[in-house]
Amino acid sequence: MSLERTLSIIKPDGVRRNLIGKIFTRFEESGLKVIATRMAHLSRAEAEGFYAVHSHRPFFNDLVSYMTSGPVVISILEGEGAILRHRELMGATDPKKAAPGTIRADFAESIEANTVHGSDAPETAAFEASWFFRGTETFGAKQG
Ligand code: ADP
Ligand code: MG
Repeated sequence: MSLERTLSIIKPDGVRRNLIGKIFTRFEESGLKVIATRMAHLSRAEAEGFYAVHSHRPFFNDLVSYMTSGPVVISILEGEGAILRHRELMGATDPKKAAPGTIRADFAESIEANTVHGSDAPETAAFEASWFFRGTETFGAKQG
């Protein structure tokens, strides 16, 4: 394993239901370090660009509407094998299929309002982090 960075979003349903602290606790207790974070209410353009890879999926418009429906908390997490570790903490996209004890199994409202986002590979992690943060806004091991 190597030291990785991944992008996390606590989606509008998570922020609305006061779950920021509980979700950050899960990251921290699993050894993931929050090295950048901010709250934002995404514009349509920001959400569409972020989810551009899904622009041809039937749920795209609903997804963008949902992601712009309220504030989110966007973070960069750092740790050994952070991308997969974060995905394991999140659980499957559909909360009905998510393993017990995962964030989505415990908190998600639906396959759309599934409480958290996490990058799925090194390339998407790099793109997603750069979509929301400048290099000078991160405070990880690689930057002292
Ligand atoms: P993940 O977030 O687990 O990486 P995807 O990248 O496949 O999942 O999808 C991105 C987001 O789009 C999901 O987290 C969810 O909010 C939404 N989504 C995915 N599949 C569906 C679906 N079948 N119906 C509605 N929304 C969906
Ligand atoms: Mg995805």
